[in-house]
Parts: sequence; structure tokens; C-alpha cells
Amino acid sequence: MDKIKQLKALKAECLACRRCNIGGQTLEGKFSGNVFSNMNCDAEFLVVGQNPGSEECRQGEPFVGVSGKMFDQLVEEVLGMKRSMFYISNTVRCLTPGNRKPTSEEVNNCHNFLDREIEILNPKIVITLGGPAFEQVTGLHGIMKHHGKPEFSPRYKIPVFPLLHPSPINLNDPKKLELFVADLVKLEEFIKRGLRGF
Ligand code: URA
Repeated sequence: MDKIKQLKALKAECLACRRCNIGGQTLEGKFSGNVFSNMNCDAEFLVVGQNPGSEECRQGEPFVGVSGKMFDQLVEEVLGMKRSMFYISNTVRCLTPGNRKPTSEEVNNCHNFLDREIEILNPKIVITLGGPAFEQVTGLHGIMKHHGKPEFSPRYKIPVFPLLHPSPINLNDPKKLELFVADLVKLEEFIKRGLRGF
């Protein structure tokens, strides 16, 4: 089966998933709280965030709200890369009450979606945004210690590059914005080195 067919089947499974209490919720009575990915099956770079917010539910795609716009803008300015070059997905695929951080049970329940995306896409690298995604992919803790330093995912056997989460809470703080931009420069160097040297 080709990649897009496999992803469409996985997306249908994700939208129907009710493994946690947060599965199957709706926003404003009409938008699904389950959001899968941007379905960009030709991308070599896989980006994993935390979980969708309300704008993502309205549009049915990850990172299309304030954080996503920040990400798109900075990636284009610093790396000269467009959003269309990334497959974008999340650690947990559902809106959480009050947009709280997902619980470890929710992360575990959702893990199989990322496992299968990685199997289908075979990306060159996983770029994690924020702590929960970094922890899920590497099994390591402490994003403030690890951001900007490439790691190897023992689970997926591919390089991982951890970035801070591009949320307004982070990027309205000039120091965190500076760190985010500096990490993008390091990511560019890592890509130019052929994803070696970590
Ligand atoms: N933040 C995330 O981590 N993921 C999204 O899809 C949107 C905001």
C-alpha cells in the first residue's frame, strides 16, 4: 500500500479513537477534538508537538494556531524552509480540558500512532517541540537541559533534534526566543553535517 493510503487509514483510526476520556470530544459542538497530522507524506522531516489546541480542532490540522504560525515564521526566516517540507504531528492527538499538559496515560495510549507514522514515513529526523514530545521520542527528561542538542532515539533508531515548544508563553520571552532561534541555527548545522556528530 502506498504511504498516503496507509496514512489515511491511520488517520481514520485516530479520529475514531476513544481509548482515553478525551477521545471523541467536540469543540463548540461541531469540531472534532481528535486531530491527526498534516498528512504531508513526502516530507523527510517529522515534527512532533504536544497536543492540538482549539484552532487545530477547528481546522483539523496540527500547529495552525498561534504556536504554529510562530513555528512557520521562524523556520522560514532562519532555515529558509516552508511548512510544506515537514510532516507535522503530535504526542497526543486530542484536545485536553483547558489545554492542560497530557497525562502519561494519554501519552501511552497515543504512542502507537507515532510508532506507525514513523514506520510508514521513514523520516530522516524527528524534530520534537517541547518536553512531552522529547520525552516520548527519546525516553529522556529535562527539555531545558537537552534542547538544541541532537539525540538518537533508541525506540525509533533515528536522530532526534529537540526544540523548545514555540508557544507564545515561550516565544514572548525574549530569552527563550533567542534560545529557539539559536537552536534552529544548530539544527541547520546538524542537517548540513548529514545528521551526524551527536
Ligand atoms: N501545540 C502543540 O503542541 N500542538 C499543536 O498541534 C498545536 C499547539
